[in-house]
Amino acid sequence: MPPNTEATETAGLLPVVPFLKIPEEGSPFLSGSLCSQCKTTFLGERSFCAKCGSRDEMETLALANTGELYVYSIVFRSFPGIEVPYVSAIVDLDGGGTVKGNLINIDPEPEKIKMGMAVEVIYRKAPRKDAEGNEYLTYYFQPKI
Ligand SMILES: [Zn+2]
Repeated sequence: MPPNTEATETAGLLPVVPFLKIPEEGSPFLSGSLCSQCKTTFLGERSFCAKCGSRDEMETLALANTGELYVYSIVFRSFPGIEVPYVSAIVDLDGGGTVKGNLINIDPEPEKIKMGMAVEVIYRKAPRKDAEGNEYLTYYFQPKI
C-alpha cells in the first residue's frame, strides 16, 4: 500500500471535522494552534492556551502529517453498519498536537501494534454520506513506511 503518494481527490468534499482543512491548492492538513508564549501546540483553533493560560497569543498552523502512536484500543462493538474490529488511536503528532482517529492498514491485533510506533496521517473520502448526500473527507493513521 503506497503512503501519501497518490493524491486523494478532494473536490466537492466537506471536512469531517473543523480542524481538517482542505485548501484550494495543495494537500489537506490538520490545523492546530501554537501558543507564542509557552510554545505548546494544540489541535484545532483556540483563543487561549490550556497550558499557560495566555489569551490571544495563539497562532494557527498546519500540524505535521507524521507522529507517534500514544495509545490505542481495539474496538469490537460499535454502531450498526460500522465494520469491526477497528483500531481507535490517539497520536502525538511530530512538532505538537494530539489527535484521535482510526489506525488502518494494520491487523487489529495487540501483537502487531506497538506504543510509540511511527505513524502518518492520510486523507481519504469518508465511507458514508450524510442525510443530505454530502460527501466528506476524513483522515486516518497508518503505520509509517
Ligand atoms: Zn501557552
